Amino acid sequence: MKISWPHMGSLEFVMGSVFEEMGVDYVLPPPNSQRTLELGARYGPEFACFPLKTTLGNFIEAIENGADTLIMVAGKGPCRFGYYAETQRRILEDAGYEFQMVPLEFEPSKIPGTLRRLNRLKQGRSWLSLYRAIKFALTKAHLIDRLEQQALHQRHMDRERGATTAAMKRCYEMVWDAGTYSALSRVEEDAFDHLRSVPSMECDEVKIGIVGEFYLVLEPFFNLNVEEQLGDLGAYVERNIYLTDWLRPSGERPVLGYHEHDSEHLATPYLTHRVGGEGIFSVGDTVLYQRLGFDGVVQLMPFTCMPETIAKSILPEVSRALGIPVLSVVIDEMTGRAGVATRLEAFTDLARSRRRMRGRETDLTLQPAF
Ligand code: SF4
Repeated sequence: MKISWPHMGSLEFVMGSVFEEMGVDYVLPPPNSQRTLELGARYGPEFACFPLKTTLGNFIEAIENGADTLIMVAGKGPCRFGYYAETQRRILEDAGYEFQMVPLEFEPSKIPGTLRRLNRLKQGRSWLSLYRAIKFALTKAHLIDRLEQQALHQRHMDRERGATTAAMKRCYEMVWDAGTYSALSRVEEDAFDHLRSVPSMECDEVKIGIVGEFYLVLEPFFNLNVEEQLGDLGAYVERNIYLTDWLRPSGERPVLGYHEHDSEHLATPYLTHRVGGEGIFSVGDTVLYQRLGFDGVVQLMPFTCMPETIAKSILPEVSRALGIPVLSVVIDEMTGRAGVATRLEAFTDLARSRRRMRGRETDLTLQPAF
């Protein structure tokens, strides 16, 4: 059995760590590329969500590299995420690929089935070893999230463009190589030192928050490296979801320091109930960013995403009411990097000029006062 899963930001470090710890064979799909997108768009239905196509491309490339067991998380609620695994299974089988699809569902009623599938995946290893492997991988994920957050907060001050990004690459390697908790705590100190030692300079800063559909927020290749682009434009950037937030069903957001109920509460004047996916959080977190003194918000949404389309229709009202500029970026296989770069540049300039007009210093920490 050769297991694989789709890329999504730093997810490969978590999943890879689990299977390494367990000594179970796995295959990483090749890094996301134009080919991944072309494969997904060729086999995926035209009006399917963009992430369905990109992850379908990952699966095809993983099978080409020898994978025969594909893991896909299945979601819940009024959103198409819950159908990805089944839709992709049918598409791949119709295309003649041989594999088994393993959907992992975490709704209470689906837990017994998920445990049976996990039992197959662990291939005779004990439940205790699986538990330990997941716990260790989550510890790594939490460290990676905090390092990524540090990178978002400092990239705009790089004396040499790309220096923070290069330092982050080294940090990923350091975290990946750590095989024990004690090694990981040493790495934590070294990695933060490494990241903070990037030569910096003063700059005309502007604060931009990112909201949107989780996959697109977390997956840099397919969001056209929006965070990096904003950082290079001189923006201190925060995103409203990190990998460990997404992995945590409790709704805690330990990296950001608040619970998703707080975001729902802030969204209430504009949207009173969940609409699937991250729709309500895109609204609530925009309000939160405004309260925290951010100068603008970028919403990332995949083409045809239902929850984000609802949020997109509400955000102009939030923007008018609170006086915070919001830019909605819709991404699909036809989206060009140059067009997005131009819009981000214009948006950052607008946000910066508003900041100058406001002329007030804002708190750079994301510690909400609800
Ligand atoms: S959140 Fe949006 S993109 Fe993701 S599955 Fe739901 S509708 Fe599709």
